[in-house]
Amino acid sequence: DIDHVYEALLLTGVDLDSLEPDSVLEEVWIKEVVNKSGMKCKWAKLKQEKVRENKDAVRRPPADPALLTPRPPVVTILGHVDHGKTTLLDSLRKTQVAAMEAGGITQHIGAFLVHLPSGEKITFLDTPGHAAFSAMRARGTQVTDIVILVVAAEDGVMKQTIESIQHAKNAKVPIILAINKCDKPEADPERVKKELLAHDVVCEEYGGDVQAVHMSALKGENLMALAEATVALAEVLELKADSTGLVEGTIIESRTDQGRGPVTTAIIQRGTLRKGCILVAGKSWAKVRLMFDENGKTVDEATPSMPVEIVGWKEVPSAGAEILEVESEQRAREVVDWRNYAEQQEKIKQDMEVIKAKQKEHKDAYKKERESLSNLTWRQRKAALFKTNKHLIAMRSKERAESDRNVLPVIVKGDVDGSTEAILNILDSYNADDECELDVIHFGVGDVSENDINLAETFKGVIYGFSVNANKSIQQLAAKKGIKIKFHNIIYHLIEDLKDELSSKLPPSV
Ligand code: GDP
Repeated sequence: DIDHVYEALLLTGVDLDSLEPDSVLEEVWIKEVVNKSGMKCKWAKLKQEKVRENKDAVRRPPADPALLTPRPPVVTILGHVDHGKTTLLDSLRKTQVAAMEAGGITQHIGAFLVHLPSGEKITFLDTPGHAAFSAMRARGTQVTDIVILVVAAEDGVMKQTIESIQHAKNAKVPIILAINKCDKPEADPERVKKELLAHDVVCEEYGGDVQAVHMSALKGENLMALAEATVALAEVLELKADSTGLVEGTIIESRTDQGRGPVTTAIIQRGTLRKGCILVAGKSWAKVRLMFDENGKTVDEATPSMPVEIVGWKEVPSAGAEILEVESEQRAREVVDWRNYAEQQEKIKQDMEVIKAKQKEHKDAYKKERESLSNLTWRQRKAALFKTNKHLIAMRSKERAESDRNVLPVIVKGDVDGSTEAILNILDSYNADDECELDVIHFGVGDVSENDINLAETFKGVIYGFSVNANKSIQQLAAKKGIKIKFHNIIYHLIEDLKDELSSKLPPSV
């Protein structure tokens, strides 16, 4: 709880402004916070950890062009809701089922590979449109090579059509236009193309380079034309990858399987994934136990652009996370350990910022409070101070702790205004000698209350009551906390007693 930490900091008197986040972790300081606050500070646990060496895993530098070989394109289908994205993906998947032995059934694993009769392959991402696309981009991973923009021929350009175009443009991914639902009588593909001009999507007929395919996802019409357009664009893009060395990839989807534990679908981007490979992704790692394709068939290896289900993760890594192969299990543990540590450090840094801001705020408030008090009399000032919040009280106690002066904090309770006033007047005229100072931290009318006890405890003060009482439970509380309450019925006696108390505070004379 940041408030508790803050309070603790205030009491220890550490000036955070003078500390860098790293030095904040210094043991001495942590101990002080923990001791004074008597609380469990989460930083205390971290104190021992000396700043560690960054042992993170990173992508390899770009491969030697001589090592690059062609790879299939990875395609994302985007478009307005109800324009036919799901239907298109289903139709594409079905082309594969037909091509497989009877009984084969494709499952949803987040991505699937389409084998064309020509021998070409295309990988389709089958994750809920925009969200996944944006999430991956936000993480700086770019898996998609081509966006197929689905626009229903009878509806034309809609809100999410425009958003999809924006996503593709921001990611600098080229678009292929799939004008869908052309089987419908009211379909008007030409209108769609015209509307898109306003959004900088210029089809070939208009002198641009965007291929447009008129199709029906529902009836499976022109699916092959769409696939061929994709392959043609992929050729222009000259998509290549290095299928040697340590594996790099991206997690497309992840879930926990009842029997197999955490399972992820990944797109491999570099290297060749095989059983036994050690992978790290986010703060999880895996020794690859099993790999499956979208038909649930085990595969022995996955090369760049291939979607593959991976079993063997220790925990579920999140979608969009980067996958990196490392040399050994020990190395994987080291990387995950470092990442956890780095995250904690980041969290602490953020906490520190919040605390610093809070501290400044309170310092400013305190300063302002003091300025506004400087015109008041001594007594008005005291009264006003105690109306202010507990942070100011903490600040005052800190100040007092800092000074070497001898101070006797007192609380004065009288039976009526007049008597309290009279006592305070005498105390006002009391000339503090150099060695011990009287500090009236609170005064009021009425019996000694729990609040008085608490104040006395905070300031290690003594309570003086004039013609007042304290009920039994208050007396017990005071006894328990070791707080002195002194009752008098004659002002003179009270003052004498107070003077005695003051002298007892003086250092013994030699
Ligand atoms: P999504 O929200 O973009 O995924 O759209 P769906 O694939 O769920 O399709 C929305 C509706 O349009 C469904 O009722 C589909 O059957 C229908 N639909 C999709 N493609 C076609 C098509 O080519 N022709 C016709 N007539 N209907 C289609």
